[in-house]
Amino acid sequence: MCAMFRWTRRNFLWQAGLAPIAGGFGSRALAAAANDRSTAKITRRTRGRIYEDLGLRPFINAAGTYTTLSACIMPSEVVAAMEEAARRHVSIPELQEAAGKRIASLVASEAALVTSGCAEALTLATAACVCGSDAEKIRRVPDTTAMKNEVIFQKSHRFGYDHAIRNVGVQVVEIETMEELDRAITSRTAMLFFLNSADHLGRIKRQEFAEIARKKGIPSLIDAAADVPPAENLTAFLKMGYDMAAFSGGKGIRGPQCSGLLLGRKDLIEAAFLNGSPHADTVGRGGKVGKEEIVGLMTAVELFLKQDHQRVWKEWENQVRSIGKAVAGIQGVESEQFVPAIANAVPHLAIKWDPAIVGLTRDEVARALREGEPRIEVRPSAGNEPRLEIAVWMLQPGEYLTVGRRCAQVLRAAVRKA
Ligand SMILES: *Cc1c(COP(=O)(O)O)cnc(C)c1O
Repeated sequence: MCAMFRWTRRNFLWQAGLAPIAGGFGSRALAAAANDRSTAKITRRTRGRIYEDLGLRPFINAAGTYTTLSACIMPSEVVAAMEEAARRHVSIPELQEAAGKRIASLVASEAALVTSGCAEALTLATAACVCGSDAEKIRRVPDTTAMKNEVIFQKSHRFGYDHAIRNVGVQVVEIETMEELDRAITSRTAMLFFLNSADHLGRIKRQEFAEIARKKGIPSLIDAAADVPPAENLTAFLKMGYDMAAFSGGKGIRGPQCSGLLLGRKDLIEAAFLNGSPHADTVGRGGKVGKEEIVGLMTAVELFLKQDHQRVWKEWENQVRSIGKAVAGIQGVESEQFVPAIANAVPHLAIKWDPAIVGLTRDEVARALREGEPRIEVRPSAGNEPRLEIAVWMLQPGEYLTVGRRCAQVLRAAVRKA
């Protein structure tokens, strides 16, 4: 009986997300001593070499904010805010509410929620449209029987991260034309989804899509994960009529790598919160955010909005120019600045070469940079054309000089002798 009671109580605490550390520590003194020793050892051993100590070779990031490449480096103010947040306990619902209010006021949104990445923001936004704040529905998903459980996409807007939407147990309904959209909207429609970076691929453009959703009274969500900067995008899509907009925290905003931001209508944002952490029995519980990430992203948004964006842009252009100059004059090599039309819309450098003169493929150049000293990662590419893309926005001070020097070395060494 007694054991049963304890189990049940613990189970309840787990359900509520309140379980204390299970079990006792035999000898606290022993544990503390071991702890002290290992802390001292860690401090001695790894100061500034935490990755090397694991046998890893950190790299200069001339690729951009790719998750696999550990996204961004946070400004020191953000790291300091996270460290301060890490030192005391706080109620997560209270912190989420307060930080959400602060962020919302900065970007003129009704409400805001810090999530664990943009992908999780997509899950929570979808769950908000399917379940709202209904406790029974929140517990039951991904079983969405008898709920509104269809999300409408343009066919060209299907993408890898739509798994985050499908996790909620919804059916994706694909459409291409306006007439198809009109026909697809029924009493089962939970949400209309738009992928900002696919705007140029679909027949229905972003503004029009938001207007239809509005007219039909269906909540709409836009994924703009990698579309900041420009900073105006934090407000533009809501102004355009989207009910919710989702962004990565660890990309251009330069917050914690595992953070994201969901902005939009107050009732939906509140429902999104109820569909995820810290609430245990929810579809979004796997996407836990801690006090450090919440405070970190809030601070990153504040800093980002205060930044002199024109000055930063000029600095990026200077670095692009400098790397271009470093490879200028190598036989068969040309370079030019470009700004991707959408997603990561910041100055990049494209280096192109004549393979008849410089005898390397794109992948061979990328590999030489990766295997060289220091290690350098460039923008991933689907093809193997003789063209290398360099992003400068994640470079740390002075690293552009190293990138220029190494690119020149690798290309020059491959010039075929006549
Ligand atoms: C990066 C990205 C995501 C995922 O964002 P996370 O913050 O890494 O979860 C989703 N959608 C698009 C378009 C992205 O570029």
